[in-house]
Amino acid sequence: MPPPPPPPKGRRFPPYFYFLGFISIGGTAYYFASFEETPYTGRKRPMLVSRATELQIGEASNKALLRQFQGRILPPDHRTVRLLQKVGKKLAQEGGADAQNLHWEFHVIAEEDVMNAAAMPGGKVVIFTGLKKCVHTEEELAAVIGHEISHVLLRHSAEQMGSTALMNYFFFLLALLGLPVNELTLLLGDLTWQRPNSRLHEKEADAVGVLLCAKAGYNPAAAVRVFERMADEELKRSKGVTVPGFLSTHPAFPERIALLKREVEKVRPLYEASKEAAFFSFT
Ligand SMILES: [Zn+2]
Repeated sequence: MPPPPPPPKGRRFPPYFYFLGFISIGGTAYYFASFEETPYTGRKRPMLVSRATELQIGEASNKALLRQFQGRILPPDHRTVRLLQKVGKKLAQEGGADAQNLHWEFHVIAEEDVMNAAAMPGGKVVIFTGLKKCVHTEEELAAVIGHEISHVLLRHSAEQMGSTALMNYFFFLLALLGLPVNELTLLLGDLTWQRPNSRLHEKEADAVGVLLCAKAGYNPAAAVRVFERMADEELKRSKGVTVPGFLSTHPAFPERIALLKREVEKVRPLYEASKEAAFFSFT
């Protein structure tokens, strides 16, 4: 059998190989250069989305949401909106310089069936009136808004956008290498990458949320009451059927409540100090 012909001189790899090498090295360098620490929690993470892009997306999402619920947004002089504005501004003040540079907006949407709140990048926060099943007092409202404001301050949406882009980049590399990218690969990426990240963000926002409440003089223990009621409501709605933790974007309620109780104990001294400071400024 004759020996195989030698490869042509000067061209040992196909051209796409060099392209692949270039984008892999460039992408990896960009990824590591983007690392930063989260405020409050000091977690190291890549931040692949600029502040300007994040703010633009936040503005656009807020406008789209307000358009979607047009006619169901409570007017600014409504009692609940006034309370929300008061609580929101008080908590945002505790977020330091970063929070003060944002244009905060707080809206209430009349949707009795929606027991939820949401925050968009740049400081846009909405709550739905269905929350009143679980939120009965000002400090309980502060617990919910503290959580949402924490998502904004920790730039979780921007982190999530970067993480989605990174996953798509990884799939693109797989496809270039001729490896299969199908529904199963996408599902695996979601379960092993996106959802654990989302659960981590929820826990982080819970912890920072009670910290902001304590600093603002709201009893941080209110968060535990709110989540216990939410857990009861959720159980009623699902008729006892619960989603396994690894499939969920949010941590399970028992885990969340246990974490909150630990965080409340950590920030209690801040709450006591803040109550005392308020008393002395009054007398
Ligand atoms: Zn959240």
